[in-house]
Amino acid sequence: MQGALGLLVLGWLVVVALYVAWGPGDHPSRDLWLYVGLMVGSAGVTLARGVLVARDRAVWLALGVGLLMSSAGDLVYTLTVAGLDPEPFPSVADPLYLAYYPLCATGIVFYVRSRAREAPLDFWRDGVMIALALGGLVGAVFLAPLSDSLKGGAWAVAIGAAYPLADTAILLLGAVGVILVGLRRAHGLLWIGASMAVSAFADLGYWNLLASGGYVEGTLLDAAWPLSSILVAFGAWLPDIERSERTTTSRGLMIIPGAALVTATATLAYGTVHPVPLPTVAMAVLALLGVLDRLNGTVRSTLAMMAARREATTDDLTGLPNRRGFTTTAEALLLEAGHAPGSVLLLADLDGFKEVNDSLGHHAGDEVLRAVTARLLAEAEAPGTLIGRLGGDEFALLLTETEIETGTALAARLCDAIAMPFQVEGTRVTLTASIGLSAGPRDGRDLSDLLRRADIAMYRAKTGDLGLAVFDPQIDLAGEDRLQRIAELRQAIDRGELLLHYQPKIALDDGSVVGVEALVRWDRPGHGLVYPDAFLPLAGRAGLMRAVTKAVLEQATAQAARWRAAGISLPIAVNLPPAVLIDETLPEHVADLLREHGLPGSCLQVEITEEALLRDRARAQAVLASLRDLGVQASIDDYGTGYSSLVYLRELVVDEVKIDRSFVVPMLLDDRSSSIVRSTIELAHALGMRVVAEGIEEADVAEQLARFGCDFAQGYHWSRPLPAAELDRWLRAYASGPRSTPADLSLDLRAVLAVE
Ligand code: C2E
Ligand code: CA
Ligand code: CA
Repeated sequence: MQGALGLLVLGWLVVVALYVAWGPGDHPSRDLWLYVGLMVGSAGVTLARGVLVARDRAVWLALGVGLLMSSAGDLVYTLTVAGLDPEPFPSVADPLYLAYYPLCATGIVFYVRSRAREAPLDFWRDGVMIALALGGLVGAVFLAPLSDSLKGGAWAVAIGAAYPLADTAILLLGAVGVILVGLRRAHGLLWIGASMAVSAFADLGYWNLLASGGYVEGTLLDAAWPLSSILVAFGAWLPDIERSERTTTSRGLMIIPGAALVTATATLAYGTVHPVPLPTVAMAVLALLGVLDRLNGTVRSTLAMMAARREATTDDLTGLPNRRGFTTTAEALLLEAGHAPGSVLLLADLDGFKEVNDSLGHHAGDEVLRAVTARLLAEAEAPGTLIGRLGGDEFALLLTETEIETGTALAARLCDAIAMPFQVEGTRVTLTASIGLSAGPRDGRDLSDLLRRADIAMYRAKTGDLGLAVFDPQIDLAGEDRLQRIAELRQAIDRGELLLHYQPKIALDDGSVVGVEALVRWDRPGHGLVYPDAFLPLAGRAGLMRAVTKAVLEQATAQAARWRAAGISLPIAVNLPPAVLIDETLPEHVADLLREHGLPGSCLQVEITEEALLRDRARAQAVLASLRDLGVQASIDDYGTGYSSLVYLRELVVDEVKIDRSFVVPMLLDDRSSSIVRSTIELAHALGMRVVAEGIEEADVAEQLARFGCDFAQGYHWSRPLPAAELDRWLRAYASGPRSTPADLSLDLRAVLAVE
């Protein structure tokens, strides 16, 4: 299509050159073939866009057909009118020319409608209005003085004036369109506008020359019309710049009626000084009527909008403001109260409402909510009290310029009022309310702070069965802090801030390293390493243990693969919290990880606690069995601190028992501990399990355990848990160093590493 556009431009330049070279007069090769050819060509290119491209099809079809009509007008003019002396005006060509305008307007309307999401109706009205207003002005100021001298009577004046007026109207329609769709998306309109500006220039010139009797065919002025058509063809094919959605601003929409108002008034004012033709006065008056109608429409739509907004901010059931309505008004009230002390926010939640709903049905529930609303309204009648239903059975009240005491007194009255029995569908229903109170500016200045803190207090009121709780930073901030920390922890998991340290497990008979335990740490930015005791309990309560374990398993398998590739085959033991052990998707997840890294199950072990087995025996057992099928072995961690006995654990497929540190540490001093350790080792062996002792810090303890027949041991005596890279170095040093002083070695190693 670039070729066709290029040809059009080239043809136009040739026409211009020929006008200059040959001058006015009849030159069929120029005026018929080239001129009409350019017009038809532009029409064809524009039509092609409408036919070939679905987007904006109607726009370019309308404009293309319009240009075709124009071309037909040119053909008729050149063949029949031109050359007559005097040239008749108006002629048969004029209806064909004029047919272009409505089609062009249609194209503009389609263009705008596909882009502006609102107000196509106003668009029409605005277009007509501004066209009338400006047409009146142009008519009064420019055309009227000339019309007297124009020969040919009323028809000639009307048709002659129709061109520049229609040009102006289209230009204005285009301008309205640009305002509606925004400059960045008005690309096509700008081309049409440019085309129309060129045409307006030519039409005005033509009109002037015609009025003075000086028009001859074949001057440079004639080159303006094909240029105008070519510009449309360009608009059809040059790509859109911007396609994003845009909404029209209300200020943009008001520009047009404003402009129409000013212009029409100016025309009428001008008319009081100079004589102006009646039609232009009529146009100005019509434009003013249009403005009035528009204002009327604006008022109506504003009212409708207000009604819609009221609906959107009101709760149907109770007629109270809903959450949105409450927050909007409350924010405004708080802002209004400014720093004037004393706002109180009450958050009331019904206790037992769900039961009413469940047992008596939603209908009864609705009735209860309406009755509660009536009681709230009766109690909180003080002016300036805002009541809203935030949702479900939650209500909020805001008091401004008041004292906390007033708030607590009101809360107490509300509790009493709600506690009175309700009569619902013939049944007596009793409910209570839990109310949380926060006060500004003490607990925060803006609504969100007050709401959050009232919510925390309300939660305390509910769980403590207190009726009313006033937000207390001493008690409640801990809760808030906790939420904050949970959010941080969740982020930490997502961002990969959890990492693993590995502690070697040593065979007591020959001192060889038989495996490692993976222990999680949180590398918290700005806080350094955080140890599991400091964040795992919170993670557990916040339901984040699955996510933690997932991260740990991923890292542990990746590390196992790295070690395997380096020729180190150390099974990595991972701690499984109870919540995860009963997760039936766990074995599948583990299997996926092993497959992904090409590892046998024997590279992984799991450490579980007795507690996990107490929770849901059947499921825990199923999960353990599936893991075992994968080749993943299991140990009982912290053995001795729980409730169950080894005999009880036997039915579980567990390969190893880890005796808790609390028995191992005092072994040498305390006979009871020592005998527990010894009997545990014997019993475990009798049941076919290995025994691991944890927390060995001294060589004496290690020797004693070896004498008892304990298989493996783990502890600072050999090494603290270390990052993988450090453990590599430790392993190398341990393999080459004297086994008699491993504890010193590990400490030395840490010192060396610290210096590095
Ligand atoms: P645990 O499973 O009993 O892990 C052993 C803990 O004892 C580790 O503490 C380890 O650093 C420490 N320890 C090892 N040798 C000695 C020693 O000779 N003396 C002393 N005093 N302590 C020693 P850590 O790393 O702080 O872990 C604490 C607990 O956090 C673990 O106890 C385990 O219950 C839990 N945990 C650690 N990592 C994970 C994990 O990845 N997932 C889960 N679910 N829990 C983990
Ligand atoms: Ca462990
Ligand atoms: Ca342990």
